[in-house]
Amino acid sequence: MSVIGYDLGNLSCYIAVARQGGIETIANEFSDRNTPCIVSLTSKERSIGSAAKTQIISNYKNTISNFKRLLGRPFDDPFVQNEMKDLPYKLSRTADGGVGVRVKYAGEDVEFSMAQVCGMLLTKLRSITEVNLKKPVQDCVLSVPSFFSEVQRRNLLAAARIANLNCLRLFNDTTAVALAYGIYKQDLPAAEEKPRIIIFVDMGHSSLQVAAVAFNKGKLKVLATSFDPYLGGRDFDRLLFNHFADLFKDKYRIDVRTNKRAELRLLIECEKLKKQLSSNSGRMTLNIECLMDDKDVQGAMTRTDFEALCAPLIQRVEKPLRTILQDAKLQSQDITSIEIVGGATRMPAVKSTIAEVFGMKVSTTLNADEAVARGCALQCAMLSPTFKVRDFTVIDCTPYSISLSWIAPMGEEGDMEIFPQFHPAPFSKMLSFYRKEPFALQARYTNAEQIHYPCQDIGKFCIDNVTPNQEGDGSKIKVKVRLNIHGLFSVIQASIVEKVCLHSTVILKDIGPPNVNEVVVENGDERMETQEEVKPVDPQVSCSNLLCTTQAPVDNQTPNPEPMGESTSPGDTENKENTNANSNEDVKPSTEAAEKVEKKKVKVKSKDLPFHSQLYMNITEQEIQHMFEVENKMIMNDKLECETSEAKNLLEEYVYDMRGKLFDKYEGYTTEQDRTEFGKILEATEHWLYEDGEDEMKAVYVDKLAQLKQVGNPILRRYTEAQARPAAFEQLGGAL
Ligand code: ATP
Ligand code: MG
Repeated sequence: MSVIGYDLGNLSCYIAVARQGGIETIANEFSDRNTPCIVSLTSKERSIGSAAKTQIISNYKNTISNFKRLLGRPFDDPFVQNEMKDLPYKLSRTADGGVGVRVKYAGEDVEFSMAQVCGMLLTKLRSITEVNLKKPVQDCVLSVPSFFSEVQRRNLLAAARIANLNCLRLFNDTTAVALAYGIYKQDLPAAEEKPRIIIFVDMGHSSLQVAAVAFNKGKLKVLATSFDPYLGGRDFDRLLFNHFADLFKDKYRIDVRTNKRAELRLLIECEKLKKQLSSNSGRMTLNIECLMDDKDVQGAMTRTDFEALCAPLIQRVEKPLRTILQDAKLQSQDITSIEIVGGATRMPAVKSTIAEVFGMKVSTTLNADEAVARGCALQCAMLSPTFKVRDFTVIDCTPYSISLSWIAPMGEEGDMEIFPQFHPAPFSKMLSFYRKEPFALQARYTNAEQIHYPCQDIGKFCIDNVTPNQEGDGSKIKVKVRLNIHGLFSVIQASIVEKVCLHSTVILKDIGPPNVNEVVVENGDERMETQEEVKPVDPQVSCSNLLCTTQAPVDNQTPNPEPMGESTSPGDTENKENTNANSNEDVKPSTEAAEKVEKKKVKVKSKDLPFHSQLYMNITEQEIQHMFEVENKMIMNDKLECETSEAKNLLEEYVYDMRGKLFDKYEGYTTEQDRTEFGKILEATEHWLYEDGEDEMKAVYVDKLAQLKQVGNPILRRYTEAQARPAAFEQLGGAL
């Protein structure tokens, strides 16, 4: 089984794999560890990654880059509308209101959803990995920006499915970096000691992410995350671009903004200049030949000028850094070190801003480009049953608070924050309701200001087949909700609880407001066994109103609250999933009720209820399957195209090789007439290859080569035999 981590950046990807010796990053077919996030479509095939980079200018309308940020967003999102202005390719609104791209592929106008484009890139990453590991791969861990919302995450998971990858976890970028940092540290404080606090800053191509992480021996806990999802290296390139575009308008009377190719070329040069200014403070120049209207252009800038130009961007770096101190309730003196990764942190002004805010030098011990991929591979190894990794618990947190709302039949609160911001994740909670009929829970991000996404909706979860209890009152319905390993919220189980007395004298009755009665906190996810201790029930949201008497008729006026936290531990009586088997439960009456009530054993019967969900901008199973099939067809097509060009190359090589040798070293092994005739056939084939035969099917090239070989092989055989003759005689002579 494969153990792979993919860092899916906005600009480029890195692949890390676990081998016996540890984690290593692997190179693509161009011997480069950095694979650009670019997909280029042509009239025949796709080129993805490094091969697509060469098409960024020549085939800009069909070359898709910068797409990670469009994934899972509605087309009408102001961010998308704004982004569209700078993109060289055309975006479209997909049938479900999402973002698609319109390109020419295989001679047709086609639309691909962003999940499909991302799937294409992942197909490429999978293929690079398979070539490297020399075996098929499937399991992987994929990096995801910590600020990605539900829909964006679901789209990324869909992309993995399209690429036939089994994503074991969507792993937040900064958490991956924290794992890559912490797992090798031998000197972390013991579990009972004060944790070591590290701040991780990742500034990449399109975003800035920060995490405050507490480390103890064998454990990391993300205390808080903060970010500016719209600030990355590319924004600095754009500022430089604007500066030079304006300059060239005056200086050379050209407007690069009116010419896409010129715009793209200038943008590429601006990025180069920016990088040069990171290592040189002197005046650096920018020269582009024939940028537009046959004009060569030249510009220059010093680091001081660059930093002055970019001052507003540099200032924006501060905000998430200060926010995290507040959110994680940290002072600078609590922090041991600031670890920075991501290409854009190489800018000296970014480094010094980070150092200033935290009042300490930044540390660059981690590999700025590869840390995320390495962290993902480590996480994959930890989740993989076949790999032995040092015990290390990863407790992540949710960047956004999540709330549930429901129709409250008796006018009580119908809204509750289920997971506050920075709540540990993955995590499950159990909620109890008293209901006589089916009901629905509406999940949403609590705070519009927290999320960087145009919609707060997560989805609606409908609990079906709910019926009143034997007394005609609301049945106790338990609903288990989970924030799962990918950071996705969902209802994962619903059950109806029926209580049956062991003694005929004991009658149970539910009274009190038929509302949420308790929240039972349960920890972890199936795949994450090492989690925090079980927490007690949150008293604010728990109000159980179960009454137990020993006599009939029921005294339903006596309050007798069920002790809170009775069923908090995973796997205890009430949390046993999918069991219809009876189990015993202690019902502990309150002191006042205890005078009238004996402590009795009761049976609890719990029956699973069906439920269904309607997720916001969901991608259905059917749609994923369809996109998977489309992707497979394209993979087959790419393969065929590749084989066709190989067949054509082989034919071309044969023609050249044979033509050269026919009148040279093969001359003595053919008659003049054969030579002339074969020479003519070879020449005709060469012409054909450049004219009618330029774009033929694989079989045609294969056939042509076979025909030529029918004539050429006897010549070759005569020649080889003749060459082998002296040696054979020598051997024979020796033997005699
Ligand atoms: P993201 O994390 O935003 O999804 P990414 O992971 O693809 O994107 P990185 O590879 O971490 O991004 O960083 C790429 C950015 O870093 C680019 O904008 C690039 O120009 C910038 N960069 C790389 N090296 C330097 C340098 N020496 N000086 C300045 N900027 C640099
Ligand atoms: Mg990145």
